[in-house]
Amino acid sequence: MDETVDGTRTSWRCKVGMHNGVKKTNDQGGRYLECSRCGKEDNIPDSAGPRIAI
Ligand SMILES: [Zn+2]
Repeated sequence: MDETVDGTRTSWRCKVGMHNGVKKTNDQGGRYLECSRCGKEDNIPDSAGPRIAI
């Protein structure tokens, strides 16, 4: 059911906005999230509040 996608194709999860963000730090020291599957950058949520899935 859960196919492994090794970077050549975007996972269906990414297509529906369920990115697998991992914490990264840029050259300016800012932290952000980057999807380990598709590489999309995303902002880290401001607080540890509940995440709302669309
Ligand atoms: Zn993604």
